[in-house]
Amino acid sequence: MRNPHAGQPFTDSDEQIAHALLDVSIPTLVMSLVHMSGDESLIRGPLRPAGLFLNEVQGYMSEEDKAAVRAIALPIIADYRDRGCPEPAPIRPELLHEMMQWLVCEPVPAEYVPMLLEEMELDGRDTRAVPQADPARTDFPVVVIGCGESGLLAGIRLKEAGIPFTILERNAGVGGTWWQNTYPGARVDVGNHFYCYSFEPSDGWTHFFAEQPELQAYFQRVFDRHGLAPHARFDTEVTEAVWDDDSATWTVYVRGRDGAVSSLRARAVISAVGQLNRPHTPVIEGQHGFAGPAFHSAEWDHSVDLAGRDVAMIGAGASGFQIAPAIAPDVNRLTVFQRTAQWMFPNPNYHASVGAGMRWALRHLPFYGRWYRFLLFWPGCDKGLEAARVDPDYPDPRRAVSEVNDLARMMFTEWITSQVGDDPELIAKVLPDYPATGKRTLQDNGSWLRTLTRDNVELVRTGIARIEADAVVTEDGTRHPADILIYATGFHANRMLWPMRIVGRGGKVLSEQWGERPSAYLGITVPDFPNFFCMYGPGTNLAHGGSLIFHSECQMRYIAQCLELLIGGGHRWLQPRAECAEDWRRRSQDELSKLVWSQPSVKHSFYKNSHGEIYTLSPWRLVDYWTWTRTPDPKDFEIA
Ligand code: NAP
Repeated sequence: MRNPHAGQPFTDSDEQIAHALLDVSIPTLVMSLVHMSGDESLIRGPLRPAGLFLNEVQGYMSEEDKAAVRAIALPIIADYRDRGCPEPAPIRPELLHEMMQWLVCEPVPAEYVPMLLEEMELDGRDTRAVPQADPARTDFPVVVIGCGESGLLAGIRLKEAGIPFTILERNAGVGGTWWQNTYPGARVDVGNHFYCYSFEPSDGWTHFFAEQPELQAYFQRVFDRHGLAPHARFDTEVTEAVWDDDSATWTVYVRGRDGAVSSLRARAVISAVGQLNRPHTPVIEGQHGFAGPAFHSAEWDHSVDLAGRDVAMIGAGASGFQIAPAIAPDVNRLTVFQRTAQWMFPNPNYHASVGAGMRWALRHLPFYGRWYRFLLFWPGCDKGLEAARVDPDYPDPRRAVSEVNDLARMMFTEWITSQVGDDPELIAKVLPDYPATGKRTLQDNGSWLRTLTRDNVELVRTGIARIEADAVVTEDGTRHPADILIYATGFHANRMLWPMRIVGRGGKVLSEQWGERPSAYLGITVPDFPNFFCMYGPGTNLAHGGSLIFHSECQMRYIAQCLELLIGGGHRWLQPRAECAEDWRRRSQDELSKLVWSQPSVKHSFYKNSHGEIYTLSPWRLVDYWTWTRTPDPKDFEIA
């Protein structure tokens, strides 16, 4: 069978190919040329990328150099076509490593290479897949809670393993976050050719950072392709799961949309509910007396017409930042209430669409899509963590926590001031007063600040005193008229798995045990909650790079092997040793305290709990997490 990443054979004319090449990432193209031609000299000459930056896919090559590469590429591609597009011969590992370093213009340490090769699947093998089961597994039913990106992945892997499973999803369809968040302007901010399953790449993305409908459609397609429908129950909310020691089973209680309550038994439960699924709406005096429509960004009321109305939006983090530019042209007046200014990462292509030539290359050129994925992954792979590390000797940690963090601050400040340099009042409002990357940094192509400079938009940084029937009143007494109120105020990120009642050994209730300090060994397993596994659990949110899908793939491989330990070994239950879990918690806390997100100058952040502590984020390098989750160590567990 042809390697699925070797590209679909094509018969396009030279002219069509030349036209397509006008649209592609030239450094990525060179990688594909090496595969097609076997010519190593292509990466040894003077034509090469000049630098690396997140989402800069041309490597800062000059127009002249790009044209020179295209001229070299055309006969190679035409020859490959004329030979009938044969599957290229595998490339030896040393050369692949050299190609990686060529593409990103810097050393790629050897410890990363196995992880990157696995992620790229150049050999066409999905090594994160779970081996086929033997018949003994069929009496080991598993319940997966949630059908977003991680629950869907769990379903795919359980199906591969031949383990019976049911996915329970409270929404009416597939996608989790990408089902729920339908607000105008919703889009992903990790490049989509990386933000997709490693084994389910898409060459069809219409945007580099797709909008919500396209993302939801992607997850639906994957769901369908893997035949998960018979295993999924939608409109079914898990309210409670109770462990029974005698039978070593979980009883999972569910409530349908019609209110009907039922239960099912499982030998193991995988929670795939994520950290950002329960909308948070702050309590504000008078809010219930507001006369017009009021709703949360994650519960967008599409029946409300915003055209020509006065809209007040409370909160402007990642969601508000996308909503304002999308609705401002339609409304009469938009007042944005923002408590904390946000740092933004310049990304001119944030709203750009993927051209036909690029899509052609992704579909047809051998391994082009795989190298493009690597090019998106690498700049956000662990470099951000170093930039987040606090240098204890750095002079003013309220401003910057290290030299590299200071450089980021300067770059972001320049990006902001270059857009509104002639408006000192606005600059004072939009320049953050905490170190760069201290909160979630937003991708920006200039649309946010352009929106704020519109005549019908006002950014208010003064605190809100109360809400009246037709206005939001700030602490300085100003009334801001409003017909419609939007809460873009985030999620209960620190109340993990809440409001579900997960009852483990000895009647322990997980949400009570955790409070605002959730912790799980590797973010996955919890003492006294046997055969219970989390995906995107405590301490696994990524603030420094990567993609949650990458993390989910690591977690699910680990979970699948835990299930194999249980079933293959004929065991009843498994849970992490308390000392392992405690050691993990302590080390994670220690590490987090050395990172910028913990800085006291970051006053408000959903990364922090109400005590200012962080239990949501991973402080670990992706390569370490990948290594630790590759294979569970039976010594870490009590197994019986
Ligand atoms: P968020 O980033 O937590 O932002 C919430 C906003 O509401 C902030 O401006 C916050 O102010 C404000 N707020 C919260 N409580 C408040 C209060 N009591 N008074 C005044 N203001 C208050 O939530 P989000 O925008 O929904 O985004 C959450 C996460 O979802 C993101 O970080 C990201 O992980 C994900 N997301 C991703 C994308 C994407 O991929 N592009 C888009 C949307 C969301 P403070 O900043 O002062 O706390």
